[in-house]
Amino acid sequence: MGFPPDPQCLVSPIVRRVYNWFGEVLERFMFPKIAGTLVSGIDHPDRVALVVYLPYCNYRCLWCHNYELVLGKFREVPLEDLRWELENNMFVDMIVITGGEPTVYGDGLIRLIEFVKEVRPDLPVRVDTNGSRPDVMEKTVDLVDGFAVDVKAPPQKKRLYSRIIGREFDEEALVKSIKIACDLPLTLFRTVRYPILTDEDFSLIKKFLNDICPSKPYYVNEFVFVNSPADWRGGTSTYLPKNLQDHTFYPEGFEKG
Ligand code: SF4
Repeated sequence: MGFPPDPQCLVSPIVRRVYNWFGEVLERFMFPKIAGTLVSGIDHPDRVALVVYLPYCNYRCLWCHNYELVLGKFREVPLEDLRWELENNMFVDMIVITGGEPTVYGDGLIRLIEFVKEVRPDLPVRVDTNGSRPDVMEKTVDLVDGFAVDVKAPPQKKRLYSRIIGREFDEEALVKSIKIACDLPLTLFRTVRYPILTDEDFSLIKKFLNDICPSKPYYVNEFVFVNSPADWRGGTSTYLPKNLQDHTFYPEGFEKG
């Protein structure tokens, strides 16, 4: 058995409970790793954003553009470098925290936002998310000015949604996430024009968003093909740190949903 051991291999339920508790404590105190920063004039309408990239994600989307980041292949940016960038970059007028999936860090994401706000209290903060962790969004809602929530497919088509994200789609979590995001001024919703989505699918997505949060902008981003690695979606995650795992990924071509 390797270390840390797989909890499924632990015989005693007590040992397993202690192991899971230890994972939750780690999530609570772990500060996100910074995988990069970028100044962008196209990330948010009419704003120049300092985009902060965090590694790891709990989805394995088809054609993911950031698969290297998701797989943990990145050179870590020291926190002091981020502080320097924040203190000295006077051209940006917002901060975007993106990934990967920032919410996988749980309370660690809150500490990162607090750090950013402490250094640049003048700048609004937006967090990008796939909408799978409304519990984390709920905790950050008083600190941020908006979320960019990705709606990957029509939620009415659960099987199609699951096929795109590589795991079981949780519609309830997405609905909760959209409702939380809806109250904030800089929130927007996005979908990539995946080649497997039809015009009817986009109509369904718009109807879904209109029913829950009609007041926020919705953008369709153009699709660009990415050849992600062959083992990108195979079995359980071997990439997320153990304490951030909560799922099993579907292999390519699965028929679940
Ligand atoms: S949500 Fe999907 S597209 Fe976004 S980083 Fe995760 S795997 Fe990639």
